[in-house]
Amino acid sequence: MEREESPILKPATLDERRKYYREEWDVKEIPEFIRESVLKREFGFDHMGRGPNDRYRVFRSADLLRKFLRYRAPFAAYSSVAFYDKPRRRDGWIKSELVFDVDAKDIPLRMCGCEGVCEICLNQAREIVCSLMDTLKGDLGLNDIHVVYSGRGYHIRVLDESVMKMDSDVRAQIVKYIIGAEVPHNEYAEEGVTYNLEHFSIPFGYPHVFTLRAKYSILHLSEAIQMEGVNQKLVKDAIKHQELIKNDEWGIFRNKIGPIRYQRLMNGIASLNMGLVDAKVSIDLKRILRLPSSLHSMVSMKSMEVKNIENFDPFEDAVPRFVYERKD
Ligand SMILES: [Zn+2]
Repeated sequence: MEREESPILKPATLDERRKYYREEWDVKEIPEFIRESVLKREFGFDHMGRGPNDRYRVFRSADLLRKFLRYRAPFAAYSSVAFYDKPRRRDGWIKSELVFDVDAKDIPLRMCGCEGVCEICLNQAREIVCSLMDTLKGDLGLNDIHVVYSGRGYHIRVLDESVMKMDSDVRAQIVKYIIGAEVPHNEYAEEGVTYNLEHFSIPFGYPHVFTLRAKYSILHLSEAIQMEGVNQKLVKDAIKHQELIKNDEWGIFRNKIGPIRYQRLMNGIASLNMGLVDAKVSIDLKRILRLPSSLHSMVSMKSMEVKNIENFDPFEDAVPRFVYERKD
């Protein structure tokens, strides 16, 4: 956790912001999926570090956006997930990206206990993003997916046409599915006989997603965790038998814990999983998100599109040059 004290996470001064936008930043670092739709999006800026109150900005070209950023060197820059016919008035909504916001500061079961963000929780956020992406690709068949490092976590931005016109209710259902927010009911009937299957014995669909998320949660439990309807003795027992879950021996785990307590544990984990992403962001069709390539001035890191999430290390890849030139 030494890195927490590192100069990287210190706020950037106005001079540093100017230096960044004039000497280091390049308009080509704004991902193409945004550059090609500049005309349809609303932009927002925070000039003083008090929140994005300069909203409803529009640009007729990526070059005008480039000039604005160069000249103003804002504290923070944002663009809408929505495409509008009249972005200046947020009118004539056409469609919106489907977004999942994984903020390292807010994820459940943080292994670090730091105040803001650090290498440990950022890496946990990265792991969560990888497994959410697998579900989006594998289960939902989506493939126009972009990952953006926000400065404090990750945004998964989906631009498949099949999801961009969806309303908030459908988006809420998708969120619940991919994070494993409900314990699956696994009864199914065949030729008049009802079978009862545990979620972990079904290798596909939602029960499988839930099993993956529950596995992640159980392997990251700590004794300090507070879970709805789960007492500390049960948390302790779950930790004691983590090895079984690691080896996918769910049946034995369930027997060790006891079936009723197991059910209680799964309910607790399902509600814990609600914290994996910020659902408010996913259902908000008019949200603005930090502009990739812009500077997150609060922590002096670059928000950027991540091409290879498996190997991404923000402390290597998202540190602007001016940070290395600081005197203290
Ligand atoms: Zn941390």
